[in-house]
Amino acid sequence: MTTFNHFSTQAVHAGRDVPPPAGKPVSPSIYPAVTYTYDDMDDLSSALHENRGYSYSRYGSPTIAELEKAVATLEGAEDAVAYASGMGALHGAFAQANITSGAVGPPDRPVVAARNVYGATYTLLNKMYANNGALHWVEITDREAVKAAIEQHHPRAVVLETISNPLLKIPDVPAIVEWAHAHEAIVIIDNTFATPYLYRPIEHGVDVVVHSATKYLGGHGDVLAGVVATNATRANELRMQSRYHGANLGPFEAWLTLRGLRTLGLRMREHCANALKVAQWLQTQPTVSRVIYPGLNDHPDHELAKRLFRANHFGGIVSFELRAAAEPETFRFMEALKLIQAATSLGDVYSLLLYPAQSSHHALGREERWRQGIGDGLVRLSVGIEDAEDIIADLEQALHANK
Ligand code: PLP
Repeated sequence: MTTFNHFSTQAVHAGRDVPPPAGKPVSPSIYPAVTYTYDDMDDLSSALHENRGYSYSRYGSPTIAELEKAVATLEGAEDAVAYASGMGALHGAFAQANITSGAVGPPDRPVVAARNVYGATYTLLNKMYANNGALHWVEITDREAVKAAIEQHHPRAVVLETISNPLLKIPDVPAIVEWAHAHEAIVIIDNTFATPYLYRPIEHGVDVVVHSATKYLGGHGDVLAGVVATNATRANELRMQSRYHGANLGPFEAWLTLRGLRTLGLRMREHCANALKVAQWLQTQPTVSRVIYPGLNDHPDHELAKRLFRANHFGGIVSFELRAAAEPETFRFMEALKLIQAATSLGDVYSLLLYPAQSSHHALGREERWRQGIGDGLVRLSVGIEDAEDIIADLEQALHANK
């Protein structure tokens, strides 16, 4: 028998004949292998061409498959496809829906989208799909306007978010689904802020659910990831497109996201309970002129949130406005925070505060921001899972420091 026993050969191959474990590992394994070999070349062919087994990790890989299955289960979807970021997932969903750019002439059918979607989603749609009437923005909580836009434009897809940022508006998703389907449009929803713990859009007829898994699904601020959950046919197409778009999630990132996902329910319960306490406390503060939280009775979509979301859960984000504050005063307030960190993300175990005028909504310009109700003193707090008393104590000392 030929032996391959020179040093470097051994360094490259030694140990690889250790058999896989007979027992099942109780937690997910990370498979960094990019490519797979088979004893029988027919098996490699069917892995490559018939999707039976793994062949090359841009086509699929076990850790990522485990995450995809977990997200599909939580969203009540037939399948899910993971991406390297939330934006990768949104781009995949738009491409699969055949939303055309209008660059080479008017599209047969445009897209109708919520005007107040996340800033990068707004820019992606605006830059890629806004030519020749390919895109129509709509105020998504204005029922009449949404219905009229769907009837008038006969769109290919309606794009919206379950909870808008930073004003936390909630669209009537079941009604929008009904109008869209009556006009053969699909509904693509970004469910990042609500998570499937609060709301499972597919149960209400939504066709495609997108997540920035960077936020609550991952939950620890240490992984950039995205997922699209949908039916099996569309997921297969997304997977085929991923082979060529190549915005695939890496196995370590999939593992971290899976690890976060295990505690999604626990974390969401804490985020929501803390957010309600913080919102109620902020309402008592004379230096705060406005508190926006769907769990408060005075929120315009409070009743809708109660109807759509898990009982007594309204999300982990609270937006509020500092009374008579322009940018410098808002900055001083943010700098005075000691526990809450001023950073551009949300959904982490840590409390994070963002200034939309400086970050997510900077590109809109001041006039458009004001038109949308995003003043210079408005901040968005992603309430973490620290003790509510400490989050409130930090806000209190920073509000006083700002006086
Ligand atoms: N969707 C929403 C609602 C978001 O808030 C974000 C990011 O903040 C994204 C999508 C984009 O996600 P990612 O940063 O993972 O690409």
